[in-house]
Amino acid sequence: DRLDLDLGPRSYPILVGDGLIERAGALLRDRLPARRAFVITDENVAPIHLNPLLKSLQAGGIEAPHLILKAGESTKCLAVLEEVLETLIAVRTERSTTLIALGGGVIGDLTGFAAAVLLRGVPFVQIPTTLLAQVDSSVGGKTGINSRTGKNLIGAFHQPRAVLADTHTLDTLPRRDLLAGYAEVVKTALIGDAPFFAWLEANGQALLDGDGAARRHAVLTSCATKARVVAADEREAGQRALLNLGHTFGHALEAEAGFDSGLRHGEAVAIGLVMAYDTSVRRGLCPPQAAERVRAHLKSVGLPTRPGDIPGIDWPGADDLARHVAFDKKVKDGRPTFVLARDIGDTFLSQDLTPADIETAFAG
Ligand code: NAD
Ligand code: ZN
Repeated sequence: DRLDLDLGPRSYPILVGDGLIERAGALLRDRLPARRAFVITDENVAPIHLNPLLKSLQAGGIEAPHLILKAGESTKCLAVLEEVLETLIAVRTERSTTLIALGGGVIGDLTGFAAAVLLRGVPFVQIPTTLLAQVDSSVGGKTGINSRTGKNLIGAFHQPRAVLADTHTLDTLPRRDLLAGYAEVVKTALIGDAPFFAWLEANGQALLDGDGAARRHAVLTSCATKARVVAADEREAGQRALLNLGHTFGHALEAEAGFDSGLRHGEAVAIGLVMAYDTSVRRGLCPPQAAERVRAHLKSVGLPTRPGDIPGIDWPGADDLARHVAFDKKVKDGRPTFVLARDIGDTFLSQDLTPADIETAFAG
């Protein structure tokens, strides 16, 4: 299956299907400016998916050295970026060399950012191997790394040349990471697609249990929504910010937990989604039944809905968590922008939350 993100001269295809890694060489050979690439991946993905990719690139006549990084959120940092850039420069990467990100959102965000700044910009390709990366982070051109105080505060918009989402790779993904990615699927449904949310209520469990058709449908539907939103507002002047539903709360949890805590981005988002709906109910904007459906669905598949659901993290008080909101990118004139809800599939941007509203949200 294929869809296209329409951005004029920067348009690119998003391919979704089983076994795309084995066909990567043939799929990419005429899409790259030169038959030279550089693959960046992590230590968990490399033993499983790197060799098939290298073989297929080689068969396509694409020369591709590779670099294997440590796995985990703490890899999205300046020190690792420096190491990556120095390595690429040392092997004499040229402007026509394409960086290939083989991995989850961490590898995709870091590789994309390296591609954005190396030689003032080299092409890159996303081969996402987590559910999160396939439904969300590999599409749309947001790249970047974390600062010590906040998520994704250092970054650039840089669109990939192609996205190859090989749904076979989800078979080897640990359950916890599969679930974390599912939170972004739910988010995509909640921002503007009530029928898709109902479909998830009926089919989400099957998807998580390995149903291939359900997976492909969810990845395609999520990518289609994301591609539509990004095509209309590439640089987040307005509506693209809806994709941050649950994220202003979630980023504060991630920053407070620490980037080496093991807390998954998607877990923080799941809790953030519940906080956004509960806050909307408290402000009289949204019927309580809608918030209840969101909580019930996340719970039923095994996602956390409160910070206390995450084992092994000692959370500080709500006031400390609320303080992190000040470090989010979505702060304008000192006021954070939140995505709030009127219903399932009906969300909007608001700068109206008071510090007390935000603290109450974290207090649960
Ligand atoms: P991740 O990249 O850390 O991957 C999760 C874990 O799964 C890692 O341990 C990884 O090594 C392992 N893994 C990956 N693929 C595997 C496979 N096929 N088989 C076995 N193990 C595999 O995390 P993630 O959840 O993919 O991404 C989270 C990141 O994405 C966060 O940093 C978040 O900020 C970012 N993100 C970015 C955007 C964007 O628009 N750029 C959107 C959403 C999230
Ligand atoms: Zn996210």
